[in-house]
Order: sequence, then structure tokens, then C-alpha cells
Amino acid sequence: MLFVSDVHLDAEAPESQRQFLDFLGTEARRADALYILGDLFETWVGDDDEDYGAVLEALAGLTGEGIDCFVLHGNRDFLIGQRFCARTGCRLLPDPVTVQLDGERVLLTHGDALCTDDHPYQELRTVVRDEVWQKRFLTLPLATRRMFANEARAGSRAHTARTIPIIMDVNGRAVEKAFRATRARRIIHGHTHRPGVHDTLLEGQPAQRIVLGAWYEQGSCLLYQDGRYELRTLPR
Ligand code: MN
Repeated sequence: MLFVSDVHLDAEAPESQRQFLDFLGTEARRADALYILGDLFETWVGDDDEDYGAVLEALAGLTGEGIDCFVLHGNRDFLIGQRFCARTGCRLLPDPVTVQLDGERVLLTHGDALCTDDHPYQELRTVVRDEVWQKRFLTLPLATRRMFANEARAGSRAHTARTIPIIMDVNGRAVEKAFRATRARRIIHGHTHRPGVHDTLLEGQPAQRIVLGAWYEQGSCLLYQDGRYELRTLPR
């Protein structure tokens, strides 16, 4: 079983797209399931976006081989919808979601909802995750939606540049709350682009948070095999 997050596919960055297509054709083919934990795309303004035909075909090829492929929304591609799923054979999961992996409850989430110290971002998130807002946005012409997405990216970059890094990491209390609410002992997420494995104790019991890395400079994936998790860097 494989997990990835934050591939951030971008028509202007062909290297990461090439690497991800290669990953789908090799490692992913040997897995029984692939979980994509959000931000597969740098921007996704609706399922009528035709910029990523090769990726959609590769995903369809993977699911066609009988490999289950699950997708969670990220903060960049939360408009991935049913047409995307019909075309690729991927299944959209809610964020957060608790899954049973070999009988263990594991919480999967993109991770942005855990960054509760970033108040301006959380306010924006509430607006754009609203169903009515999304329906209205999707009625706009594709070019207009792209323009808004580019503005949002520029705004996000400016916000990231002026916000101290710790504010944009997960909040410890939010993580603890997520552990308690789901009774999971393991959380797998991305979003922060800080790959790592964090062991902690929760009410005296071991708990673990695994953070996937972004694909800007290299690939990152988590392999679950024979009861073991292995966070891997995929050199480009
Ligand atoms: Mn993200």
C-alpha cells in the first residue's frame, strides 16, 4: 500500500509530472492500493480542466489494472469532483477519514485543517469549502476560474512569506483532538511539506503521526508493507 501527498502537479513544472507518471507506471503498479492525500494538483478549478490529460489517463490505467486509488481533497484541488472520478476510476474520500489497515484504525487527512494557528488561512478555508460558494464558483467560465486560482496562489505565496513557519505547521492540540476523536493511534497527512515520523504518547499509549513530503524537488511516498511503514524519498 502506498501513500502520497502534495504532488502539486503543475503544467509549468514538467519534471514533477514526469516523475509522478513514472511512479504511477512502476511503484504504484506493484501496490494493491494508492492513497493520494490531497494537493495532487497545484490548482484544480473544476473537472472541465483539460490541462492534465496524461495524468488522468495514467490514473485510469492504474485503476484499470485493479489497483484501488483513493483521493482526498487538498487545499489546492478541493474542486476535484465526480467527473474526475468517473474518468480516472479513483474514489474520493472525505477529509478526514478513518480507514482500517490490517485491522488498525488509521486517520488519513490532507493536514491543512490541523494548522489551526493560521487563522487567516482557516477563515479562507471555511469560505471556499462551502458548498454554495463552490457551486457558484463552478458556474464561472474556465478562464475566469483560472484567473481567480492564480490570484489565490499569489496571495498564498505572500501569506506564506510573511508568516513565521511554526504558525503554518500543525497545532499540537488539534492533533491530539484528532487522535482522541477518532480513537486512531496513527495519523498520516501531508500539506506542511515537512516529511517526518513523529512518535508520541497519548494517555500512556504510543501514537504516531507520519507526514508526507511534497514533490517539488523530489518525490515522497509512504510504503506500508508487512505491517511496517516506511517513509521514502524518491530522488529525481
Ligand atoms: Mn496543501
